[in-house]
Amino acid sequence: MHTKFDTIIIGAGIVGVSTAIHLLKKEKTVLLLDRSGIATETSYGNSGIIESSYVLPFAPPHWSNIPKILMGKNAYARINYPDGLSQFPWMLNFYWQSRKAARIKSGAAMRPLVENAIAEHRAVMQEAGATHYISDHGRIKLHRSEDSFINGQYERDVMTQYGVPFEILSPDELQEIEPDIKPNFHRAIQLTDSKRYTNPAKAIQCAADWFVKQGGEYKQETVASLSQSDGGWQVNAHKCDNVVLCMGPWTNKLLKPFNHKFPLGVKRGYHKHYASAANIKHALVDADEGYLICPMEQGVRITTGAEFAMMNSDPQPMQIDLALLKAKELVEIGEAAEDKAWMGTRPCLPDSLPVIGQSHKHEGLWFNFGHGHCGITAGPASGRLIAQMITGETPFCDPNPYAPLRF
Ligand SMILES: Cc1cc2nc3c(=O)[nH]c(=O)nc-3n(C[C@H](O)[C@H](O)[C@H](O)COP(=O)(O)OP(=O)(O)OC[C@H]3O[C@@H](n4cnc5c(N)ncnc54)[C@H](O)[C@@H]3O)c2cc1C
Repeated sequence: MHTKFDTIIIGAGIVGVSTAIHLLKKEKTVLLLDRSGIATETSYGNSGIIESSYVLPFAPPHWSNIPKILMGKNAYARINYPDGLSQFPWMLNFYWQSRKAARIKSGAAMRPLVENAIAEHRAVMQEAGATHYISDHGRIKLHRSEDSFINGQYERDVMTQYGVPFEILSPDELQEIEPDIKPNFHRAIQLTDSKRYTNPAKAIQCAADWFVKQGGEYKQETVASLSQSDGGWQVNAHKCDNVVLCMGPWTNKLLKPFNHKFPLGVKRGYHKHYASAANIKHALVDADEGYLICPMEQGVRITTGAEFAMMNSDPQPMQIDLALLKAKELVEIGEAAEDKAWMGTRPCLPDSLPVIGQSHKHEGLWFNFGHGHCGITAGPASGRLIAQMITGETPFCDPNPYAPLRF
């Protein structure tokens, strides 16, 4: 047991576990803390896609969808009334930062964290003995109409600029790869070198087990107090030189005494598993209806878009019901494998970039959170980056776009 750790990491989702592994590899003494276990929150129930094809941030909904969203009839986005209205200032900020030029800039700033995501994940999972959770059958996006296909042209142009490979397939062509998908769509875009996890939580658990086997320490513990002490930090009863907050949407909670508050938006998302008889290999994005169908170990997982709500308000999983109706038009879904839908909370900054770096107010206080819709993808590269920054090495990419100082 160490009396003082080099680094304590708070939060054991994909981002915290990746940070812990990269620091341990640099021969630092590391303690990883989480109140509820490894990958039990948002890193548990996502769609599992390693989005190395990410070139533009998640777009705000098209204006034509706004009435449906306001009425709660859309799986892509929904406002939970009345508490979701508290997110309104954040939504306006997000809309402002989603102008064309700002989206291109944000997408470009994110590329270093996502372009080698598959190699970064493989490296972590290879050591953890968990590569069997990574499927080569990644993501396919389905457009239901020619209009929808044309709307997607802009993103495809940007992917082409970055050299991201994809194939445009007709329903007949997709049938050859995925015979169990019903041909109720117009065009499919196959992201040919994308990958996905078949059980993200189990893969992250294997990575955390590897961290412990290699000498890292992990404790299930709620961090209730963070303070400066002896030229370093005290986290509950533990002491360290550096502390890294990887607490996703909960990060602001611990920061009140430190004069930091980040504009974190709360975009909740749901999933539910179904015992489908269909043999689907890829994760399917319904581009028009805003949900995904993801084959997982637990069954077919349907995941929803964003729900704007207060962090602690009761789950309202009606987007799952909306998604289910639409999903049945594309795939034989089968019976629900569980009664209740799972809920997770994406930690989202309005410029769609994470916060990675040291506090400009307090030495030794570090941040690695806010990965929004692509935290699974960018987790390992973000862990590599912050470990390089903490140890004073030359970072593999320019960390300035992620600097805490921008807020
Ligand atoms: C429906 C859905 C689908 C998604 N699909 C994808 C996808 O396909 N690909 C992709 O790249 N991303 C996807 N995402 C986003 C991705 O899941 C998140 O960005 C990512 O999981 C965030 O990871 P994290 O480690 O930052 O946060 P989390 O996994 O939420 O971890 C934060 C941890 O902090 C801990 N914590 C909080 N407060 C304390 C405290 N006081 N003391 C101790 N511990 C504390 C929590 O217990 C938690 O374990 C999806 C998200 C959702 C909701």
